Amino acid sequence: MFKFAGIIFCALIFLAGCSTTPPQSSLEWSDTNAIVVKPVVVQIIQTNKSIAPILQTNLPVIPKPAPVVTWTALNDWAAAHKTGAPHLLSKTPVTTYALGSSNGVMVMGIGSLGATWNGIEINLGFAPQFIDDEIFLHGLDLQKNLEPLLCEPPISFPQTNRIIVIDPGHGGSNTGTHSVLDGRFEKEFTLDWARRLKPLLETNGWTVFLTRTNDTDVSLSNRVAFAESHHADLFVSLHFNSGAPDTKQNGLETYCITPTGMPSTLTRGFTDDWSENLPNNSFDAQNLQFAVKMHTALLRAIGMEDRGVRRARFIGVLRGQKRPAILIEAGYLSNPAEAKLIESSDYRQKLAEAFASVLK
Ligand SMILES: [Zn+2]
Repeated sequence: MFKFAGIIFCALIFLAGCSTTPPQSSLEWSDTNAIVVKPVVVQIIQTNKSIAPILQTNLPVIPKPAPVVTWTALNDWAAAHKTGAPHLLSKTPVTTYALGSSNGVMVMGIGSLGATWNGIEINLGFAPQFIDDEIFLHGLDLQKNLEPLLCEPPISFPQTNRIIVIDPGHGGSNTGTHSVLDGRFEKEFTLDWARRLKPLLETNGWTVFLTRTNDTDVSLSNRVAFAESHHADLFVSLHFNSGAPDTKQNGLETYCITPTGMPSTLTRGFTDDWSENLPNNSFDAQNLQFAVKMHTALLRAIGMEDRGVRRARFIGVLRGQKRPAILIEAGYLSNPAEAKLIESSDYRQKLAEAFASVLK
């Protein structure tokens, strides 16, 4: 419970922080020409109960509107999907429910975007509601978060001819953030992590391509094009984080693209157009499954604070990917203790080994 309360607290703090000035390292993630500014209109009905019938008239035929996503009682969804029934865990400080299947257990709180899946933090798009003494979830959360984790088989990778593109973040004049200890740049540590990863993944039977093998800058669109021209089955972008000038923020985050219709966990001041349907949205379920698997393995290996699997829409290297794609932020260079870790080759080797263990 304490942990869950902490999750909610952190989520609130973090979301509150989204409207502030973007941290220094954020801009290199995004492609300014990929930002689309459009008004967002989202139509939600409150429940799937009590919908009044519409009278037949002789009005001209109007094209059908896009389907409206409904809030659904979790009990009904669980019965239809043959998971266990929702189980009340606690009424304080937040009313919390658990829902399990043979894949694992999801814990959700009423009014909270923070949830856990098998103990790791994930983020819902919409906070669960309590209506008529029942827990209701938004249809997109059921479809894009619960179904891939609770109901579908976990992500599987090709067994032969398998190709992965690893993207060491930044490079050249695009330095990324820097260590609070001695000013060393993020670009150096992401490249070293990728270089350690390559032989380990090759041992596991993967053909591995790095978007850069030295200290040069590669545009975000060229990183996407590189994955396309190399027929990558998977794409992973490697980064380290910054909360500067704050030196306390710490922990591991794993990102994937936000499903269409859902608000992002992180916007960093960019327009978050919920209606956008991006090429990478074809992989929503696999993105989440891959992110969860990687996040879990890395957390177990490095024992870092869990900042969760998150959704963002503005990440330039993920938006156009036609394959499962994730971005990892493996600790804060603005936090002295984590900067010390990131600067140690032992830590980067541990990160590489944990990563490779997911792709056996
Ligand atoms: Zn970065």
